[in-house]
Amino acid sequence: MSELLILNPLPDFLLEPLRARHVCHDYFHAPDRGALIADMAERIRGIVMSGGGVAPVPLLEKLPNLRIISVFGVGYDGVPADWCRAHGIRVTNTPDVLTEDVADTASALVLMTSRNLAAANRHLLAGAWLNGPFPLAHALRGKLAGIVGLGRIGRAVAHRLEAHGMRVAYHGRARQEVPWEYFESLTGLAAASDFLIVACPGGAETRHLINAAVLEALGAEGTLINIARGSVVDETALIAALQRGVIRGAGLDVFENEPQVPRALMSCENAVLLPHLGSGTHETRRVMAALVVDNLAAHFSGKALLTPVC
Ligand code: NAP
Repeated sequence: MSELLILNPLPDFLLEPLRARHVCHDYFHAPDRGALIADMAERIRGIVMSGGGVAPVPLLEKLPNLRIISVFGVGYDGVPADWCRAHGIRVTNTPDVLTEDVADTASALVLMTSRNLAAANRHLLAGAWLNGPFPLAHALRGKLAGIVGLGRIGRAVAHRLEAHGMRVAYHGRARQEVPWEYFESLTGLAAASDFLIVACPGGAETRHLINAAVLEALGAEGTLINIARGSVVDETALIAALQRGVIRGAGLDVFENEPQVPRALMSCENAVLLPHLGSGTHETRRVMAALVVDNLAAHFSGKALLTPVC
């Protein structure tokens, strides 16, 4: 049985099949992580971690026989992929299987922000309906959805929003063969968009891509939706923009320092905040778990990886 390091908390439906096939060492809950690594370093052949986890190079350097990192998620910005590539460590993730759920979450945030649905729910529960109707909100039809990062999830979001009568445009590092307008400039896309929807990867390259200037361009009738990674948005600039009415609103599933969410952001009436639940359905998480198990099985039996990053 190969030995694995479980870097951060994972659901039982993933841990159970892993424990049946491997010897698993729980790094996150270890009372003395340093001692665990000192004892086990030579024996660890693989790491399993969630998409939001971080595998720091100094830790990986201590594991001379590490050969694979399997990420339970599609985003692998917590893995030093270039370092792994250079050191012959394979990395896998769980693409495609979560695309539809995350796109559903993005569409839900567009609807929740445009129609002010969370506030409407609070209005009814507080008994305020008895005193008068809920204020009018904004329609989606004809509005422009600007997608930042037109990948698997970005495209699925675009199709959903077209079904709501919205127009679609996008920004990315390159133009794609799609029927939607391409903006080489992110600020240009923001200025044209009613909803700016962030669906690119996290990591150093996209850190604070959405900054004060982009929010200024999005403007007072614009709404920011982020289902990508908290690191992509300058949260301090976003809070200021929400407080000052620089933008109309925001719908966020991800935050810079999860699960910590700044109180100032929670106090913004014009923000809808979700606890990183983009792919959080029973159905999808189980398929993701199976993909992690199958990638490890393929690796340890010398077969081709199912969904390799590198
Ligand atoms: P994907 O297919 O790789 O799509 C990412 C897209 O981002 C690519 O099309 C890429 O297009 C674009 N991109 C890359 N770098 C960019 C940059 N610097 N500026 C603008 N666009 C850039 O990945 P995916 O499966 O759609 O997933 C996207 C991300 O969603 C993941 O990395 C993850 O962080 C996040 N996610 C969040 C949740 C959640 O629960 N909220 C769940 C799953 C995934 P170009 O190469 O043309 O630039």
